[in-house]
Amino acid sequence: MNAKMTKNILILGGSTEAFSIAEQLQSSPKYSVITSFAGRTSIPRKPAGNYRTGGFGGPEGLANYIKSENIYAIIDATHPFARKMTESAFKAANLTNCPILHIWRPAWRKQQGDNWIEFETMEEAAKYLNKNHSPAFLTIGRLELNAFQHRTDLSFLCRAIEPPKFTDPIKHINKIQKPTDQSSIEKQAVEILPENFNFIYAKGPFTYIDEKQLIEKENIKAIITKNSGGQKARAKLDVARELNIPVIMINRPTSPKGQTVETAEEAIHWLENL
Ligand code: NAP
Repeated sequence: MNAKMTKNILILGGSTEAFSIAEQLQSSPKYSVITSFAGRTSIPRKPAGNYRTGGFGGPEGLANYIKSENIYAIIDATHPFARKMTESAFKAANLTNCPILHIWRPAWRKQQGDNWIEFETMEEAAKYLNKNHSPAFLTIGRLELNAFQHRTDLSFLCRAIEPPKFTDPIKHINKIQKPTDQSSIEKQAVEILPENFNFIYAKGPFTYIDEKQLIEKENIKAIITKNSGGQKARAKLDVARELNIPVIMINRPTSPKGQTVETAEEAIHWLENL
């Protein structure tokens, strides 16, 4: 099949499903795949096929990209909480009449024995916490930690893929001096993280055994998480149930406008039937 006959598929990445779809499509001569990443992590995992990094510049920027790259269809496989990108992709697809499908994996559901306290925002969750929840295990990544920063009365164990950057809000608020060069910026940034925030750097999947060991070792009293769904990060919920630890659960935003499926396999099926 020559290049003109291959269909260019844009996958908006980040999720496990995005990697799986790229791998499955790349093995077919019918498709040419490009996965797009926001660029939040310094060393992203490489997908099958091509990839690009960085924002498009809103819906209009993405619409231009769709036209210039002759994109045949978009699969939005961003994380369920990446709301802005999903909305932007929906608008850009409408502007260009490009078919779009959103992956919307099922949310985690409360089971018998779970002690979940559910909130819509990080700010509400931060307000709710009390001394009995300290130390709390914050598994929300690094970018929204600032919602908890005023809780200097509590201690937090934060898990993120990589250390907060100087530009992250959690560091910004604590900026104390005018740095002179890049190396001193980084040095200061490390030094000015709030003292009640301890960090561990790790990327899922996380096993039940590892989560239990960590939660027991750190004497965790509450777990704060987004309801991301999926298997990679759910073991902590099983440990919380067993150890009777409360889970402060941030609920999902509403589901995307437009067509959704739950799995990578359903997305491939959709594409094959376009
Ligand atoms: P967001 O708030 O929805 O997006 C903010 C902006 O970042 C978008 O408007 C877009 O910029 C750019 N962007 C986001 N995803 C992109 C992608 N896949 N390719 C190119 N540009 C992208 O997103 P977020 O919550 O910051 O998440 C950023 C990325 O991390 C997403 O791709 C998501 O899959 C992944 N992630 C997010 C979470 C989470 O909890 N939010 C968790 C795990 C992984 P322009 O407007 O300039 O196009």
